[in-house]
Amino acid sequence: MATSDGRLTAVYDEVVARNPGEDEFHQAVREVLEDLGPVVGRHAAADVEVIRRLCEPERQVLFRVPWADDEGRPQLNRGFRVEFNSALGPYKGGLRFHPSVYLGIVKFLGFEQIFKNSLTGLPIGGAKGGSDFDPKGRSDAEVMRFCQSFMTELYRHLGEHTDVPAGDTGVGQREIGYLFGQYKRITNRYEAGVLTGKGLDWGGSRVRTEATGYGLVFFVEEVLRASSGSLDGTKVVVSGSGNVAVHAIEKVHQLGGRVIACSDSAGYVVDEDGIDLDLLREIKEQRRGRMSDYAEARGRSAQHVGDGSIWSVPCDVALPCATQNELDEAGAKQLVENGCRVVAEGANMPTTPDAIRLLRDAGVSFAPGKAANAGGVATSALEMQQNATRDTWTFEHTEQRLAEIMHSVHDRCLETAEEYGRPGDYVAGANIAGFLRVAEAMLALGLV
Ligand code: GLU
Repeated sequence: MATSDGRLTAVYDEVVARNPGEDEFHQAVREVLEDLGPVVGRHAAADVEVIRRLCEPERQVLFRVPWADDEGRPQLNRGFRVEFNSALGPYKGGLRFHPSVYLGIVKFLGFEQIFKNSLTGLPIGGAKGGSDFDPKGRSDAEVMRFCQSFMTELYRHLGEHTDVPAGDTGVGQREIGYLFGQYKRITNRYEAGVLTGKGLDWGGSRVRTEATGYGLVFFVEEVLRASSGSLDGTKVVVSGSGNVAVHAIEKVHQLGGRVIACSDSAGYVVDEDGIDLDLLREIKEQRRGRMSDYAEARGRSAQHVGDGSIWSVPCDVALPCATQNELDEAGAKQLVENGCRVVAEGANMPTTPDAIRLLRDAGVSFAPGKAANAGGVATSALEMQQNATRDTWTFEHTEQRLAEIMHSVHDRCLETAEEYGRPGDYVAGANIAGFLRVAEAMLALGLV
């Protein structure tokens, strides 16, 4: 591990030894610890024992999720909730339903969530959960039965003051609805603040659906502004075509930029006229179609590429919004060669460590997900505020709050990076600032 402090290397080695085979978790821990070297010894809260405790989840819940498919056949999945840290507030973080989910993925996401949530400045701890359930190709009734079975175990660990899940990959408003319905039935409480990402009629917040994508673009605007630039007239490439990608595209277009490519797991589309968002929405959300269907429907201006890398498309700004480790060193090299100036992560940890190094060395502004995609969870915290006061805010007010939060996350990263001798380094700024707020709270709360 690249740190001058042997005590941090020892903490990392212990994490690897205690969590064998959990590569994504090791990667997430390593990325943070590598930046804490300059802080240890300079700040009282940067106590190595606090760092060591921070790397061990407070609680990990693993459970069986049995359910019956539409043919009445028994199915079996595994459920997870890793309650990582509650020094700043109730555990908070999404649920991911995807066949790739195992304990190492949930731990990596939960660990990242601690720092992300801390950076928002809001009172939320860090957690993550999910299942290896694959919602693809499942009927509504099957998804409902799965969600009900999942919640039948998980409900006992949740509560508006205890642990508040939300969505992530594979978990949107439909799944949150079924999960909330089952929680309400089991507990006999309309405890709206126990889950976020709810529908507007049943305790949801305006802007929550848009928040991660919009927040990402607000962050990019600040990055560009820091070098006297703006989004106006920029060419942008967005990987993915899910909730984060769609709303990032929407906000880029609102602010005068042009998104010329996006993707799904079967390839990418280049559309030099700019992605037609209405068409994309129709294809993805109503027809549950693929990017190849988009290209076909769009006609001449769009080209579908089935193999190859979306990062070979020349752009000024690249926004990886699909999944972890999707932007590797080769992709980063192509971005640099084509003159890309900003890379900001809409997904969680989509850029590999080698790619980050290459981008930083080439002088590309790189915004890590724990800062750049914090708008989603920040708006979840705003949803909790509305639930607690039994209030609902307007779209304009909520979006304004989101924009303010993203600006302050941006400034906190830059100021902290500067203070610790890493000017312009958003990764170091995010890791150090996120860490210090949690570590100070952990010290104040004693050995618990
Ligand atoms: N899953 C989202 C994230 O990665 C949102 C979590 C939440 O709203 O609690 O931050």
